[in-house]
Amino acid sequence: MVLVDNGRSEMLGNEFHDMLRCIRCGACLNHCPVYGAVGGHAYGWVYPGPMGSVLTPLMLGLKEAKNLPNASTLCGRCEEVCPMQIPLPKLLRQLRVNETKVSRVPWALKLWAFFAKHPRLYHRFAALKIGLLGKIGRGAFRYFPFAGGWTASRDLPAPQGETFMAAWKKQQEM
Ligand code: SF4
Repeated sequence: MVLVDNGRSEMLGNEFHDMLRCIRCGACLNHCPVYGAVGGHAYGWVYPGPMGSVLTPLMLGLKEAKNLPNASTLCGRCEEVCPMQIPLPKLLRQLRVNETKVSRVPWALKLWAFFAKHPRLYHRFAALKIGLLGKIGRGAFRYFPFAGGWTASRDLPAPQGETFMAAWKKQQEM
């Protein structure tokens, strides 16, 4: 008899032990907006969707699958539909915390953090970016710098219209 542990013993009793209740029913996949947009192959290993984004880093190690916990909007639909009541968003957040301990923060995220701390600059930059990329992209990009992993198997939709904040402001004025 061969027992494949794949990190399960490690999960027993640590902050991820809720994940051991997963019965692989797939309900979280079918309700996940990210899974619906990118499909199963994008997750790169056996388990896709929210359960894969938690399981894969735990089984292969965070270094191998560090992007998966970040590929989530944390909308919470997965937890709502999970028959085993696994707190998937909480586990994804914990993996993100753990990831910051084992890897360096990418420069693109540092840049985003800079703009996020300066809201006025952020809004101007976002409006400029949407305007420019919308014109250049004409609907979608076949290749986009820094997004090669995405564009290798699908087009990247070009931003359209106005920023969320501009649309929100208009809505409030109506
Ligand atoms: S809904 Fe819950 S039990 Fe079903 S696959 Fe997802 S995490 Fe596992």
